[in-house]
Amino acid sequence: MATPVAAPPRSSAPRAADPSAPPNTRRAALPGASVRNVGDTTIRVLLSSTSQAARVASPNGVTLTNRDGSLIARAARDEVWHFEREGRRVRAVRPDGVPTVWTDAPIVARAVGAALLNIGGKPYRGDAAFYAGDTSVLVVNVVKIDDYLRGVVPLEIGTKSMSDSAAVQAQAVTARSYAYIHLGGDARRVYDVTGGVLDQVYGGVAAETPVSSEAVESTRTLVLKYDGRVVNAPYSSTCGGATAAASEIWRSNDEPYLQSVSDRIPGTERFYCDGAPRFRWTRTMDGATVNAALAQYLAAYTAVPGRKPGVARAIAVASHTESGRVGTLAISTDRGNFTLRGNDIRYVLRPPGGEILNSTYFSVEAVPAADGSIGRLTIHGNGYGHGVGMCQSGAIGRARAGQDFRTILHTYYPGTTVGPAE
Ligand SMILES: [Zn+2]
Repeated sequence: MATPVAAPPRSSAPRAADPSAPPNTRRAALPGASVRNVGDTTIRVLLSSTSQAARVASPNGVTLTNRDGSLIARAARDEVWHFEREGRRVRAVRPDGVPTVWTDAPIVARAVGAALLNIGGKPYRGDAAFYAGDTSVLVVNVVKIDDYLRGVVPLEIGTKSMSDSAAVQAQAVTARSYAYIHLGGDARRVYDVTGGVLDQVYGGVAAETPVSSEAVESTRTLVLKYDGRVVNAPYSSTCGGATAAASEIWRSNDEPYLQSVSDRIPGTERFYCDGAPRFRWTRTMDGATVNAALAQYLAAYTAVPGRKPGVARAIAVASHTESGRVGTLAISTDRGNFTLRGNDIRYVLRPPGGEILNSTYFSVEAVPAADGSIGRLTIHGNGYGHGVGMCQSGAIGRARAGQDFRTILHTYYPGTTVGPAE
């Protein structure tokens, strides 16, 4: 059940696709030859820390074992048991309210026969382990990596068309690499990854689609490697014309395989991702919205005296990155001059409480009001997401143009190889 392999150091980086997350800049390889097939390795996925989710059932019943592996209870067919915590101990409770004794966590629930386990009302492959968190029961799905990927890949790339399968296969390889390098990283945690947006979004069996399950199966054992080591492979929705080197977006050194790559279709003025909804976009904000956004967000990203940035008088692109994105944005207000850098810009230029800016690949046009402050700010942008690594829309465009998943991965991650972990 628990990860049976020696663990690489935990990445400092949350999530491959998240715009706020730096990439994992640490490359890790498991020592020895203990893992033949990465996909058969077990991963521990935190599903929830709400008590509502701490419930199991299964059509043929469920066995419950303690941390020593001894059977402590058996749930009958479709009987829903729930779990409670007290300090570091947990117990299972039958539907009629009769509990087991308190036991040191975890209690592990396993479906009888080949049936799926229903956890918190949703079907999952693998087992469930229930731990005592600080304030609630932690629900962890203990599942083979490839079974986890079946519930990840469709949510991360979101296509169901067989004609896109090379793109989905590329996504499966990046997702498997991400899972692999997060195994056992933090000994203080009872899970390797979360099932939410901090890591890769995981929906269990309900999320599975034929095209993504086929992609997981047909890329079995394969991960992305650079210099012989498994690497984290960040990706984002739509690059807008060219991907970004990691240092353009995050405060990190460039990995040699995270360089800017053109998504232009050779010999044309078109791009592999130009069919995506946010390939080109415009956002317009009036002066009041701009000032409210600065007041709410600016101080989190640059020094703002008294946390009062004042009224904006000018906003301009001060420098560009290699791929043409905004490197630094200069903001002048009646209280001073401020500079924003890289991905931080996306978290400031947004309506209060609203969605972050689609990308840093944009130009700005500020129209002054009668008093010299900004009356209206128009942002003309390209793409959606941080832009580092694989462009998912471009991968789909390339798949439709006949490229296979290895070509797609080698293009977006120059110098990498695709192969088994050892
Ligand atoms: Zn692209």
